[in-house]
Amino acid sequence: MEIITHPHPTLKYKSRPVVRINAELKAIVAEMFELMYEAKGVGLAANQVNLPLRLFVANPSGVRGEGEDLVFINPVISKGTGNEVADEGCLSLPGIYGPVNRSKSIHVEAFGIDGSSISMDLDDFLARVVQHETDHLDGVMFTDRMVDHSLQVIQLEIEEFEIEYRSKVADGLVPGEDAVYAELAEWESKFCQ
Ligand code: ZN
Repeated sequence: MEIITHPHPTLKYKSRPVVRINAELKAIVAEMFELMYEAKGVGLAANQVNLPLRLFVANPSGVRGEGEDLVFINPVISKGTGNEVADEGCLSLPGIYGPVNRSKSIHVEAFGIDGSSISMDLDDFLARVVQHETDHLDGVMFTDRMVDHSLQVIQLEIEEFEIEYRSKVADGLVPGEDAVYAELAEWESKFCQ
């Protein structure tokens, strides 16, 4: 398992709800936490590790052992109130940051990795993290939510990722779209039906 970067097609893929929580899924979640902490992130969505599953992990402290290891399966956000613009980054666009407008407060419903129901009112930074990660599950990157003039500032850096990815596909170093989608369909048959 590794973190994929823009413009890998799975990052644009709308994840499917998870209907099965088993030992394999728990191992996947544990590995996602490993990768998130190694990369010094505060959240990691399943499609960022090339899995089409509607779940993400988060810890707003970004440090193992501090704060709480949070798992959100099939998250649904509601009651967004207030607005706030702040800089965001993403493990799938490492080194790139830009301002994104988000709700300041949200309500989120989800399932935990033990199958228990989660119902939380969140504010500020954790509300932002949950909105950013839930966007991933819908195939939305933070850059998709940036206004044009902010996006222009980082456009060349984003294009560098696109050029590198295209050359890897051309050289056969990463699978093409058809192979990626075939792999996603296999994961869906395991956990989403
Ligand atoms: Zn991200």
